Amino acid sequence: MQPPITLGGIVVKPGEQRIIDLPMVRLYTHTEMTMPVHIIHGRRPGPRLFVSGAIHGDEINGMETIRRLLKMKQLQRLRGTLIAIPVVNAYGFINRSRYLPDRRDLNRSFPGSAKGSLASRLARLFMDEIVAHCTHGIDLHSGANGRTNLPQVRACLDRPETRQLAEAFGAPVIIDARLRDGSLREAGNEKGIPMLLYEAGESLRFSEVAIRTGMRGILAVMREIGMLAPRAHKRHHIEPLIATTASWVRAPISGVVISGAALGVQVKKGQVLGTVSDPFGEQQKPIESPADGIVIGRLNLPLVHAGDALFNIASTEGLPPVEMTMEVLANQLQAEDFDAEEPL
Ligand SMILES: [Zn+2]
Repeated sequence: MQPPITLGGIVVKPGEQRIIDLPMVRLYTHTEMTMPVHIIHGRRPGPRLFVSGAIHGDEINGMETIRRLLKMKQLQRLRGTLIAIPVVNAYGFINRSRYLPDRRDLNRSFPGSAKGSLASRLARLFMDEIVAHCTHGIDLHSGANGRTNLPQVRACLDRPETRQLAEAFGAPVIIDARLRDGSLREAGNEKGIPMLLYEAGESLRFSEVAIRTGMRGILAVMREIGMLAPRAHKRHHIEPLIATTASWVRAPISGVVISGAALGVQVKKGQVLGTVSDPFGEQQKPIESPADGIVIGRLNLPLVHAGDALFNIASTEGLPPVEMTMEVLANQLQAEDFDAEEPL
């Protein structure tokens, strides 16, 4: 049996499942703020995984993914410990904003400091109360600022343990992403914790494909590291596209975007992805793909200024052709009969 774990000053015994409210900086209205944490502390020892959502307060798919994950009956037989934090940035979440009230980006404020800015203090709290207890981490995100992302995992693939997790997750695309300064992923990696960042859907909207792919991915990672028993029946494994570069195509002029390429479609270098036109149609310019690749992110709002990021293209040079539009992914999820074995 594994020993008890203390979180936020509360002792959680093996076999126990609890919600713990970690006190955060209170609001100027005197209102207290807490970060609600759901912990399932298995009887048997094993890895300790955290899964976090809404570090960017307007990215709500992660919260829903965690809500559904926690309903899974198989978690009752968990080995090790699952620490789920559906809403890390509650300040941004209630304001429907990516940022904190001090206009800082929490995912650029790690590892943080107890005497620093609001963002820095929140980052520190997360490091001390969550990351310090864990051996693995998955951070859930969605496209920012009116952009949708094809489900994708970003990870530092030169670490074999991280690569193993990324491949087990089973998202259609893995981006071998260098670490960004101040992100939770970077702070976790610095502590030697293999970390994945999952990106899918857009902010302030639920995407069923994003949520289900995320949930299936988290469960697959938990099986991979021995927290859950392997599946009785092997399923078709999605071979992910591993891309080392992804780049945004920007608007050549200001105007409205017409007929943009859909998420997941394959494009060739120089292929026209759409056009930008001014409202009078006097000026019209094609948007061309800079590389052979697939569209892994796109802007939904068609109103743009010159220089705005429109399409994110993951390079597929030298790789076999793939098709993974949201419709294809939705069909794959259907075909897997996801609901039957893993009720929501
Ligand atoms: Zn984000």
